[in-house]
Amino acid sequence: MKKRNFSAGPSILPQQTIEETAKAILDFNGSTLSLMEVSHRGKDFIAVMDETEALFKELLNIPEGYSVIFLGGGASLQFCMVPFNLLEKKAAYLNTGTWASKAMKEAKLFGEVVEVATSKPDNFTYIPKDYVIPADADYFHITTNNTIFGTEILTDLDSPVPLVADMSSDIFSRVIDVSKYGIIYGGAQKNLAPAGVTFVIIRNDLLGKVSRPIPTMLDYKTHIDNGSMFNTPPVVPVYAAMQTLRWMKANGGVPAMEKLNIKKAEILYAEIDRNPVFKGTCAVEDRSRMNVCFVMSDEYKDKEADFLAFAKERNLDGLKGHRSVGGFRASIYNAMPIEGVQDLIDAMQAFEKEVTK
Ligand SMILES: *Cc1c(COP(=O)(O)O)cnc(C)c1O
Repeated sequence: MKKRNFSAGPSILPQQTIEETAKAILDFNGSTLSLMEVSHRGKDFIAVMDETEALFKELLNIPEGYSVIFLGGGASLQFCMVPFNLLEKKAAYLNTGTWASKAMKEAKLFGEVVEVATSKPDNFTYIPKDYVIPADADYFHITTNNTIFGTEILTDLDSPVPLVADMSSDIFSRVIDVSKYGIIYGGAQKNLAPAGVTFVIIRNDLLGKVSRPIPTMLDYKTHIDNGSMFNTPPVVPVYAAMQTLRWMKANGGVPAMEKLNIKKAEILYAEIDRNPVFKGTCAVEDRSRMNVCFVMSDEYKDKEADFLAFAKERNLDGLKGHRSVGGFRASIYNAMPIEGVQDLIDAMQAFEKEVTK
């Protein structure tokens, strides 16, 4: 039996995505050639790129005036590409975790960076809410889901300046109003596809405003003008992304994903709060629906390794927490069925029986 995969990223994908991509790697569209060995400029692959882009627009309800592009370099390259393309004088950042901090570090190479608020002194256990976004900033950058610390911004924020969001780990997990964002970007390997492709959704009118020259490959315009085909795109991850998007569409689209994600998070957090052996690590109102962080209660602190081994025996994989939080992290992305979450809850209850008897 396949293990239940709770890894934070690379992470669980729909079985359909894995199987269909495996088939195309052996024989792409009946061509007898592998997806890995055919031209990205052939009509069959161009159709894949077109469908992936179209499904992005359809499933996220992306309005006119926005482009969707697929790049290499991971979300980490976007930490630099965003300021390269948008930061003329000053940018504002909400510092809610490791990834936000890394994004800020890159932006500082290009101009003034204002940290509007941070929860760092409390080890990023909550999302700051009272802060002022400078009206003269070129943009305001947020990380909607903090994959490492398990907090999430679950609403589309109002911003007086273009809102830029790293949605690497919660894209397609809830319905969003794209019109409230200037740029949305993310690495695919959390909720969409294998590592290797990065999506960027850009409001076109934000581009062409900075005075510095931009190297061709780092200029969003290059990739918009060339349909993500300026250079060879990561063909296998793009193909896998298309399969995941098809799977999502066939299963009710983002509203259905959101409904199920709310349910999954609800039952898991309810167990963490009920079970005397475990406790949550984040402010209740900011708890992530994607990455559920929890630790042993003080009384059972020495049982951490025991629970991981106990879970492993029950086929539950990838639950070890990130080193900066400790304890456990259950990543329950779109592809994790509610039965998988229930298996984890059952394990927590069985473990409770064992240690409290
Ligand atoms: C994983 C992650 C990143 C880094 O993504 P790469 O594709 O590895 O560069 C950035 N931001 C968030 C929120 C992430 O979860």
